[in-house]
Amino acid sequence: MPSGRALEMLRNLLGDASVLTAETLSGRHLTDWSGEGFATPEAVLLPRTPPDVAAALAICAREGQPLAIQGGLTGLAGGANPQPGEFVLSLAKLNNIETLDEMGGTVIGQAGVNLGTLQDYLGARGWHLPLDLGARGSCQIGGNAATNAGGNRVLRYGMMRDSVLGLEVALPDGTLLTMLNQVIKNNAGLDLKHLFIGSEGTLGVITRLSLKLIPLPNARCTALCALPSFQAATHLLREARRSLPELASFELMWDGYVAAALSVLRRPSPFHERHAVYVLIETLGTDEPAMQTAIERCLEHLVESRIVEDAVIAKSLEQAKSLWDIREAASELMSKLRPFIAFDVSAPLREMEGFVNRMSELLQSSYPTQQHLFFGHLGDGNLHLLTGPYADDAALHDVKMRVYAAVEAIGGSISAETGIGFAKKEFLARSRSPDEMALMRALKNTVDPQHILNRGRIFD
Ligand SMILES: Cc1cc2nc3c(=O)[nH]c(=O)nc-3n(C[C@H](O)[C@H](O)[C@H](O)COP(=O)(O)OP(=O)(O)OC[C@H]3O[C@@H](n4cnc5c(N)ncnc54)[C@H](O)[C@@H]3O)c2cc1C
Repeated sequence: MPSGRALEMLRNLLGDASVLTAETLSGRHLTDWSGEGFATPEAVLLPRTPPDVAAALAICAREGQPLAIQGGLTGLAGGANPQPGEFVLSLAKLNNIETLDEMGGTVIGQAGVNLGTLQDYLGARGWHLPLDLGARGSCQIGGNAATNAGGNRVLRYGMMRDSVLGLEVALPDGTLLTMLNQVIKNNAGLDLKHLFIGSEGTLGVITRLSLKLIPLPNARCTALCALPSFQAATHLLREARRSLPELASFELMWDGYVAAALSVLRRPSPFHERHAVYVLIETLGTDEPAMQTAIERCLEHLVESRIVEDAVIAKSLEQAKSLWDIREAASELMSKLRPFIAFDVSAPLREMEGFVNRMSELLQSSYPTQQHLFFGHLGDGNLHLLTGPYADDAALHDVKMRVYAAVEAIGGSISAETGIGFAKKEFLARSRSPDEMALMRALKNTVDPQHILNRGRIFD
């Protein structure tokens, strides 16, 4: 193990205060939200500048010292969890918002900037980064790019990839590749940023990002709809897309999920009766009365034709938040259902109802004492299944095998937005061909021949 000499050189480079060792760790820097295995790292590096990140990587490459890269540790695939022999490189201290270009509508920030902090900073200046997810209070924009995060507004604005104009990346050989493009159109050769977005820290460490902004939409209209069936929800999706051009979110929740969410929130249901499924819709724009009227008209018509059985339209930001709380109770439910599996799959919409019914029956009959909660970003064909708590690893593995086999059978993806990491590595071949896997490995071997960065994540 090369760690002793490497550690000394890293201390000289970064300073003692930026190199934590096992005695000073206090439980931080060990694990993300996945529940995947981790080892206590011998050292945690907290570089303060991009050149320091690159120089630290150069030392680690020379000394053959492997590293686990950490952002905000909200990942659900275990990629940031240190393995035996690895040091941790955390982006926590690279957290400056550097430049806001109000003429061009772009911002440059360091990778460790917290997503929620950036949203607040931009909002106070009339700008908006469309990416939004339940983990906004802890995740970092570097981690969002490394995982190509999705979230609640993909339907309208796309995934993180669609907001990234440029990146700066420290490569495993110590090169600092500065590609902080700030223009939308740039076809000057290969667009290398896309190689790193979604690569989960296997090809480079993202140190800075240039992000595309939109003017702050200062009005929002939020409604929770109760529906008799999944088919009715797809009908609502079609209508909402047609009649609400400002539609930004379309979140589907099955009854079991809503009941569990209300129970964990200790809240009564906003409806008198229970319904098969619920959809949270939100429009973002500038003219609140017009948006409100548009949603009311859309829903009135659907209530008349019994597509929608009941609906609550938020009359204030507090009411909107309390409706979103139901959708975002997923984080509390994860804490309650440990050890859980948080499936994050995508499937063609025409297959989704059959898939949910089959998985629900299969899991209820094999694991009747566990909870199996279905919800998702329906507008993106993205389904989440939160299931747990499981007694042992054998049961967790059995459930993964069955669900991923069913995903493959309907032509879906085993990871819609949260990545592969360690959690889904064994199942990657169900969504990628041998040729695709071979090219992924060839890229890794070219950029990181010693496998210093996030070794064994995504693929071996
Ligand atoms: C309650 C909750 C809700 C969530 N909702 C969503 C959702 O709606 N949509 C969604 O997509 N995800 C969601 N997630 C998952 C998670 O928040 C995202 O994957 C997020 O983008 C991870 O960011 P992070 O900074 O926490 O990264 P981490 O968890 O620290 O790391 C994730 C991966 O990226 C790598 N990495 C981190 N930073 C860098 C960097 N600077 N350079 C290179 N590699 C890096 C790590 O090594 C690891 O492999 C949710 C998670 C929770 C707990």
